[in-house]
Amino acid sequence: MKPFSYTRPESVENAIRALSANPRAFVLAGGTNLVDLMKYDVVHPEAIIDINRLPLKDIEELPDGGLRIGALVSNSALAHDRRVMNRYPLLTSAILAGASPQLRNAATTGGNLLQRTRCYYFYDPATPCNKRRPGSGCSARGGFNRNHAILGASESCIAVHPSDMCVGLAALGATVEVIGPKGQRCIALADFHRLPGQEPDRDNSLEPGEIVVAIRLEPNHFVAHNSYLKLRDRLSYAFALVSVAAAIDLSDGRIVDVRLALGGVAHKPWRDPLVEAEFAGEMAEDATFRRLADRLLTGAKGYGDNDFKIVLAKRAIARALTEAATRPSQSQGNGPRQTR
Ligand SMILES: Cc1cc2nc3c(=O)[nH]c(=O)nc-3n(C[C@H](O)[C@H](O)[C@H](O)COP(=O)(O)OP(=O)(O)OC[C@H]3O[C@@H](n4cnc5c(N)ncnc54)[C@H](O)[C@@H]3O)c2cc1C
Ligand code: SF4
Repeated sequence: MKPFSYTRPESVENAIRALSANPRAFVLAGGTNLVDLMKYDVVHPEAIIDINRLPLKDIEELPDGGLRIGALVSNSALAHDRRVMNRYPLLTSAILAGASPQLRNAATTGGNLLQRTRCYYFYDPATPCNKRRPGSGCSARGGFNRNHAILGASESCIAVHPSDMCVGLAALGATVEVIGPKGQRCIALADFHRLPGQEPDRDNSLEPGEIVVAIRLEPNHFVAHNSYLKLRDRLSYAFALVSVAAAIDLSDGRIVDVRLALGGVAHKPWRDPLVEAEFAGEMAEDATFRRLADRLLTGAKGYGDNDFKIVLAKRAIARALTEAATRPSQSQGNGPRQTR
């Protein structure tokens, strides 16, 4: 047992002050990831800042017709919120494809965003890992790498971001609202998570002392045609090998706008808006979806055990787009279907 201090601030200002006071302080939300990381000896907080008393548990309407989701809204409450189910069914589907009902009851929106990779070596302090101990090496590159990245990896790290929720948020073009010692700022979700580069220990673009306070969603025109497809080793309680959040706006069978985000393939939810834009005006049919999949996977690279993911991802993209285009959206996983 390693000693640490514990504080439970009542205001965001006090939480930021406490977090800024110690570079080895960690925020505690639902604890479903952080407590495991402490038990496995992966992280060693000197101070725990429990944010559960902060007023960040509401989902509010925004003047533009969007929603502002507090960082402490649980994954269950978010997935089952009537406004989210009706206006952002893709997000409901993505969240319900993740974890288990009990975990989703405890896990929070902010915590899900900031959860750490599930690379086996990251959780094993006996092995080299640049993310856990910078400069020590990457055990996954020459080791067992079935779960690892095929896009955007680096010499230093080939880990993937494990979240389902974030893949849905990426397709919906969400924004992350953060507050820190220098004030408040908004970060596009696409810029929030980082590729590993030479600094795989940095998962995201948060600055020291900053906390996530909310996620913002704009109104969208993807309610009728969307799909979240998660492929994994078991149907429940497993992280994605590949997941796809697909959303299409159609007119007379042609693509007006398409959004595609991939999970389980990179250090962040993977999206390429330039590739998406190339397909505006094309027929929404299998041949188009296969070409889109090929374009999105351009440059994909396997590391041995995960080579199969390249083909799997292409097939998953075509299937998710076909589902989105041809059938009413429905949630995958353990929860109830959403209303439309
Ligand atoms: C067995 C198991 C299976 C799972 N399966 C899936 C799955 O299939 N799909 C999936 O997406 N997820 C899955 N998860 C992960 C789960 O979704 C995350 O553990 C959860 O979302 C984390 O939320 P939390 O509130 O518990 O975060 P915590 O554990 O409290 O925190 C996680 C990290 O975020 C930081 N943090 C939390 N809130 C904030 C904030 N507001 N601002 C700044 N930093 C913050 C913490 O300091 C910590 O580093 C699984 C987890 C387990 C244990
Ligand atoms: S892939 Fe990343 S997290 Fe996994 S061992 Fe390599 S450096 Fe560590």
